[in-house]
Amino acid sequence: MNRAILPGSTVGVLGSGQLGRMFAIAARRMGYRVHTLSPDDDTPTGQVADLEIQADYEDLDAVRRFAMGVDVVTFEFENISSVAAEAAAALKPVRPSGGVLHTTQHRLREKTFLRSAGIPVTPFEYVRSESELRAALGRLGLPAVLKTAGWGYDGKGQVKLRSLDEVPAAWQNVGGQECVVEAWVEFEQELSVVAARGLDGSIDDYGLIANEHRHHILDISTAPAEVAPGVLADAREIARTILERLDVVGVLCIEFFLAPGNRLLVNELAPRPHNSGHLTFDASRTSQFEQQLRSICGLPLGSTELLRPAAMANLLGDVWEHGEPAWERACAAPHVKLHLYGKREARPGRKMGHLTALADDAATARQEVLAAREALRPKGWPRT
Ligand code: AMP
Repeated sequence: MNRAILPGSTVGVLGSGQLGRMFAIAARRMGYRVHTLSPDDDTPTGQVADLEIQADYEDLDAVRRFAMGVDVVTFEFENISSVAAEAAAALKPVRPSGGVLHTTQHRLREKTFLRSAGIPVTPFEYVRSESELRAALGRLGLPAVLKTAGWGYDGKGQVKLRSLDEVPAAWQNVGGQECVVEAWVEFEQELSVVAARGLDGSIDDYGLIANEHRHHILDISTAPAEVAPGVLADAREIARTILERLDVVGVLCIEFFLAPGNRLLVNELAPRPHNSGHLTFDASRTSQFEQQLRSICGLPLGSTELLRPAAMANLLGDVWEHGEPAWERACAAPHVKLHLYGKREARPGRKMGHLTALADDAATARQEVLAAREALRPKGWPRT
């Protein structure tokens, strides 16, 4: 029988970034203890957790000791080998399971699963050599995007191809690894659904979130997304199918392209809370992090009601380019909340924190969050 893992128990998080940090904040608020394991120390999660263990994910003895010390294991970073997930699963429940991780950490397996479940995906082909890439482009057309099959995130391991002349350089850029090549989608909007499935099979989601990327990294998310009637119902149906077919226990995010004609194509899955769901921390009755906790602990899912329209703007390391940002100015905006992840070094492209704004409508929230981010520029920082 699956008993609920109640407050006072200890939750283990594999990975130690900002997702684990926000999860740990939600878990500690509800009276759980949190242990985290990753190769680093003084991490965003470790700063909030009860115990931070520094070990490689491949160190199976360390993973086993970590699992022994907790009541349930989850992860905030999906590029963890299935061997490590199996080592933990031999001792304690791992939720979502290593099988979910195995499917979603590899683009080819993920897309093959989606296709077999009858879910529309971006047209793609699997390529293992430069000549296979050329042949695939002949069928898919240009532009296209070449993506490494494994270990990719935030646009890493991706190259856009505009002409056949770019093929040799692109193949070199991905290091000759196995890849998928996708047709370029002239999408109207990028959308996501953050959904959760409880241990009892119940499913809920936060509706559609609209996402804007810069240089392949999420920049701004807005909720609720404005879409034509029917699109939300289609997205929910797709989310339900994925959660059930993969037998997910936990939170999963589905990223979509909305193609002309209101056609939803799934771009990517993330079997964990997602950057686009960060706004739920301030704007929803139950945040995506609390929902992850509830689902992996076998508690009832919380209400996903959006209390107010909201927008989130990421703060990348670039924001520090001209000195320490003027935090007091962003804090002066009454509807804006500041989240920082406790990372010591601000590097360009590194996710350091985010801002969330709440307003009467999503467009106003978006304007307010952008104004707050703009106000962070230190005095004398020239406008570009
Ligand atoms: P991914 O890492 O696959 O989520 O890609 C990051 C971002 O790159 C996406 O959110 C899109 O903005 C862009 N992108 C990736 N693949 C495609 C595609 N096939 N067509 C158009 N844009 C894409």
